[in-house]
Amino acid sequence: MTQYPYRSLNEYYRNLFGKKTAKISLDGGFTCPNRDGTLSTSGCIFCSAGGSGDFAEDAALTIAQQIETGRAQTQNKWPNACYIAYFQAFTNTYAPVEVLRAKYEEALAQPQISGISIATRADCLGDDVLDLLQELSHKTKVWVELGLQTANEHTAEFIRRGYPNQVFAESVEKLHRIGIPVVAHVILGLPGETVEDMRNTIDFLNRLPIHGIKLQLLHVLAHTDLAALYEAGDYIPLEKEAYLELLCHCISRLRPDIVIYRLTGDGDKNILLAPLWSLHKRDVLNGLHQLLKKKQIHQGDSYST
Ligand code: SF4
Repeated sequence: MTQYPYRSLNEYYRNLFGKKTAKISLDGGFTCPNRDGTLSTSGCIFCSAGGSGDFAEDAALTIAQQIETGRAQTQNKWPNACYIAYFQAFTNTYAPVEVLRAKYEEALAQPQISGISIATRADCLGDDVLDLLQELSHKTKVWVELGLQTANEHTAEFIRRGYPNQVFAESVEKLHRIGIPVVAHVILGLPGETVEDMRNTIDFLNRLPIHGIKLQLLHVLAHTDLAALYEAGDYIPLEKEAYLELLCHCISRLRPDIVIYRLTGDGDKNILLAPLWSLHKRDVLNGLHQLLKKKQIHQGDSYST
């Protein structure tokens, strides 16, 4: 029997590896076309200086050293765990393919590393990168995480995502065809979005062959353009109750086979301006589980093809 009324990541990993599995967040020293001037120099409106990798290890260290540091932090707690090397910061397929190969292979050569997860943009997956990912997937577990954030094209433009939904859909299909599971990132509470918009985003993803989803709360981080909107009173972050209700809608609507990788945001408390309630992740998850139970909601209850 499953512990939660949805397909949780812990359960997925346990079925896959048979033991505790943890991710080590890495900074491979990449940048992003949305920040280096190729598409834009300003980036997504919510993107911090760390390029969505504020918890990643220190980019000044080698990949091997980053993994060693990350493993040392959890070794006492989980001595027998296996680890996923998670290339998190910035756009982790945005470099010549031989540079990518060297970084990925360095990660995979480290002890206890059982797979690799690569966060990137849907517009940064050329054929040479896809060939490399396919080759690696014959030797180890490989996941690709793609940021959709929203299926509302107007919101996507407002947050400066930098590509239309079609590009995202095509990349998911290409990765699926070569056997790479895709985890889609969705942000709840984007400026101007209604509950209907967020439901539409779930419906859009339900129609694609994604394997997993991260549902993240929009965080206002210091020194971002979103912070300027928030400080001017032009963006009001979600309250906890509204966020929990939204999660219930999304879980109920989500295709039953999709693994839920995340249900809360992960804002660095040193730069998080709002919502501060999100720092209490345990409270948020407890509140969600109580609400799901009270409303008797299970993943896929209101999913329709
Ligand atoms: S794609 Fe990621 S790294 Fe690039 S600007 Fe947007 S949030 Fe930042």
